Amino acid sequence: MTITYPVKNGIYVNMTNKCPCNCTFCIRHNGPGAYGSDSLWLEREPSVDEVCESLKQWDLDKKDEIVFCGYGEPTERLDDLLLVAAWIKENYSIPVRINTNGLSDLINGRDTAPELNGLIDAVSISLNANDPAAYLKITQSKFGMGSWQAMINFARNCTAYVPKVTITVVDQVTTPEEQEEAKRICESIGARLRIRPLIS
Ligand code: SF4
Repeated sequence: MTITYPVKNGIYVNMTNKCPCNCTFCIRHNGPGAYGSDSLWLEREPSVDEVCESLKQWDLDKKDEIVFCGYGEPTERLDDLLLVAAWIKENYSIPVRINTNGLSDLINGRDTAPELNGLIDAVSISLNANDPAAYLKITQSKFGMGSWQAMINFARNCTAYVPKVTITVVDQVTTPEEQEEAKRICESIGARLRIRPLIS
C-alpha cells in the first residue's frame, strides 16, 4: 500500500482513507490512484512508526515539503499526524503542510488549530463553496449545515498558529463571481486564496 508518494518535488503522506465528506468532484471517485501512485486505498491505516519509516526512504533534505494529504481527510488522524510532524521537526528542516477540508474541529470534537503550533508550517483548506447550503450540496458532509461555518472558523483560528494559511477553490467548479466572493471571505479571515486546478 502507498503510505508516502512524490508529487512534484514534495512528498505526500497518505495516513487514512476516512473522510466525513463525499465531495461530488472527489478524485477518489475516479479510481484507486492519483499523482502516478499505484493505489492510495490503504489495506489498513499505517502506524506512526510505519509512516516515519516510509518517509525515511526519501531524501528529504532535497525535497521542498512534506504534505499530509492522500485519499482521505488527514485530520481524521490528527493525533498521529502531529506525532509524525513532531518527528519530522526533530529530524529535518523541511516545511510541513496539511491539505484539509477544514473540518478538524468537528471530526475531533475540540478546537484543534492551537495543536498545530510549531509543528505545521502551512495549512491548505478547501473552501468548496461560499455559503453553508452550497457547501453541503458539494461536500455532502456528514456534519450537515454547520460544516461550512466550522471550516471557516478553523481557517480563521489557524491564522494565529500556522505561518501560511491558504484557502483553495477548484477552478473548474466555480464561476469568476464565486471566486471573487471567495477572495472577500479569505480577506476577512486573514487567509490567502488560491484558485487551483482539479488535481493539484
Ligand atoms: S474532503 Fe477531500 S477526500 Fe473527502 S470527499 Fe472531499 S475531496 Fe474527497
